[in-house]
Amino acid sequence: MATREHPTAATWLGYVPPADCLKDRVILVTGATAGIGRAVAQELIRHGATVILHGRSDRKLEDTYQQLKKLGPEPSCAALDFDRAQGEDYQRLVDSIEARYGRLDGLLHNAAMLGDRSPIEHYDIALWQRVMHVNLNATFILTRCMLPLLRQSPEAAVVFTTSTVGHVGKAYWGAYAASKFAVEGLAQMLAEELQNTPIRVNYINPGATRTSMRRRAYPAEDPKRLAGPDAITAPYLYLLGPDGRALHGRYLECQPSTTSG
Ligand code: NAP
Repeated sequence: MATREHPTAATWLGYVPPADCLKDRVILVTGATAGIGRAVAQELIRHGATVILHGRSDRKLEDTYQQLKKLGPEPSCAALDFDRAQGEDYQRLVDSIEARYGRLDGLLHNAAMLGDRSPIEHYDIALWQRVMHVNLNATFILTRCMLPLLRQSPEAAVVFTTSTVGHVGKAYWGAYAASKFAVEGLAQMLAEELQNTPIRVNYINPGATRTSMRRRAYPAEDPKRLAGPDAITAPYLYLLGPDGRALHGRYLECQPSTTSG
């Protein structure tokens, strides 16, 4: 896959986002009501972005909105349950973003569900389909629907979220891992298709981070040993802002020394 230049990991790991580096950028963050998505949305707003907060729960969205609106440009909310949403629901979201902002400068695919940690032999078939739908199909549908709005931006960034189990097969990770393998493939394909366009596409692995998903995946782990979501946001801001302009088709790790799960 082609890259435009070759910034190294030190560039995004040590990145200190300048104040207002995301000023005037309209960025949609999926799964912004908890964990990493919420922490990244908060930092984006603090650095001047106009963020569209996505979530599936109106109550959590309202809570997130109330907390984050004090920090910078007023965000807006987009409620969509990826389990249930149909084509017309995605189109309504596109229409509302177009009416309000006229374009999209950034799309962070962050929402995901874990499903079960279970052997393939015993993996619940309905749950497998659900996880693949939320983590992969919804990511594809949202990308496809948002591309016309991303094309309206002078330079847009699409960021997919993966995991270490999305490129190294590990026992008992089931549909979650399969969905992340597929998300990486989707990111790579899209990056090639959008080469030589103003839309750049990359994928990021946050690494072990103290969230409710991590707690479900590793219930016996001491959460105090993990980085909190607030500690890993810099590479996200790098990718979504103008300083990450040179990256396209790249895989980034937020915590290269600890990455697992
Ligand atoms: P999290 O705390 O569980 O947050 C997940 C977010 O996705 C929440 O906002 C959740 O909404 C939303 N979501 C879940 N199912 C949804 C659905 N059906 N429709 C719409 N939204 C839905 O997870 P996280 O740990 O922050 O993970 C964020 C991303 O990082 C994920 O892609 C995950 O795979 C990846 N990742 C995390 C780790 C880690 O150690 N935490 C490691 C590697 C990769 P609710 O608030 O309503 O539940």
